[in-house]
Amino acid sequence: MTPLFDRLDAVPTLSAEERQLLDSVKALARDQIMPRAAAYDRAAEFPWDNIRAINALGLNAMFVPEAYGGAGMSYAAYLACVRELSAACASTGIIWATNFHAAKPLIDFGTEEQKRRLLPRVAEGALLALAITEPDAGSDATGMTTRFTPDGDEIVINGGKIFITNGDVADLILLFGKWSEPSANPSDKNGPSDKNGRGSISALYLEKGTPGFSVVRKEDKLGHRASSTAALAFDNCRVPRANLLGEPGGGLALLLAALNKSRPSVAAHALGIARAAFDDAVGYINERRQSGRRIVEFQGIQFLLADLASELAMCEAWLWHVAGLVDAGVADIAVEASILKMRASDLAMRMATEAVQLYGGYGYIADYRVERLLRDAKITQIWEGTNQIHRQLIGRSFIAQG
Ligand SMILES: Cc1cc2nc3c(=O)[nH]c(=O)nc-3n(C[C@H](O)[C@H](O)[C@H](O)COP(=O)(O)OP(=O)(O)OC[C@H]3O[C@@H](n4cnc5c(N)ncnc54)[C@H](O)[C@@H]3O)c2cc1C
Repeated sequence: MTPLFDRLDAVPTLSAEERQLLDSVKALARDQIMPRAAAYDRAAEFPWDNIRAINALGLNAMFVPEAYGGAGMSYAAYLACVRELSAACASTGIIWATNFHAAKPLIDFGTEEQKRRLLPRVAEGALLALAITEPDAGSDATGMTTRFTPDGDEIVINGGKIFITNGDVADLILLFGKWSEPSANPSDKNGPSDKNGRGSISALYLEKGTPGFSVVRKEDKLGHRASSTAALAFDNCRVPRANLLGEPGGGLALLLAALNKSRPSVAAHALGIARAAFDDAVGYINERRQSGRRIVEFQGIQFLLADLASELAMCEAWLWHVAGLVDAGVADIAVEASILKMRASDLAMRMATEAVQLYGGYGYIADYRVERLLRDAKITQIWEGTNQIHRQLIGRSFIAQG
């Protein structure tokens, strides 16, 4: 068979140490995480075994800088690990990736004191969550109503979040809300007349067990059934002001910068699902025979395979392109990240759908992994900005500024 994807996998320029870690992750994914995925999915049970195994490898440390107890590895190496874990178990992949999504803003925007206090815990294997979405603030996150009210050395939080990955298990939650003093941010040009309160969006870290914090419910989902998705409530929760990330009202810029790093990450996760579906489909149609021939020998099937393989190859090449930009320190990658997130997730959905089709009736049966991959793929088109929103962001970027 063609070495197409083996060559592509060799593209990211990883150090010897990074390659060694990736090999360990591959072995962990193959030997432990993949064999447990179906049972965890069926039971909709949080995969603590997998998290313990990931932490035994010290995997969080790869994205934490050395100065704070980590190993400071490249973004490309991180994305390669996300893809590997997600191909084995999409739920486990997103649980681990969420640690990165919630920790990266601290690494990029935290004060020295915050980084010294919080990052060693992340490196040692803390679970994190990133809480933005609210019942009336989804695609337009600026409509959030969770309130942060300063009170001396503390901030009082009131409000609620929904659909929060790791929300019930996280040790630390990066929480977005609105500063309750509209004029507190001198750089907020819109001031109190800013009806939507975009200029008051702020971010802080909330510790597990903070009085007033509660898990309202856990969602029963179509896919990613082993990852937990929780609705959270904050009732006069008090956190030290020292946990505020950035300035009061500086949260929107921080959020947009954070999305530039988390969107390629969810794309790598989606590509893990796509790669698993492709591998399963190719394996199956090389074995399954009808009308005296292997399914792969029918030309109509070969045309489909050509389209799927080409799209996968292009998308993976783009993943490493975006990784290269981030590792080179290019800050404004919003359009590249949107293109990647949109295409990778659309491909994951298409690949999983076609894989089920290629399995025929067996694809619809829970005994085969493609059935789960199809259920897992759908959310990738919805979270981290729906694909309609990404199409809007990409298209809008071509409007000439007059
Ligand atoms: C399993 C799961 C895990 C999640 N994890 C997290 C998490 O960890 N943290 C977090 O904060 N959130 C999380 N989310 C929330 C997720 O990011 C939101 O569901 C998503 O942003 C969409 O918001 P919404 O559901 O309110 O849909 P809406 O915004 O109500 O959108 C409904 C539909 O309208 C379309 N639409 C909306 N606006 C426009 C527009 N301007 N133009 C065209 N179409 C538009 C959308 O594309 C969509 O098809 C998670 C959700 C799920 C289901």
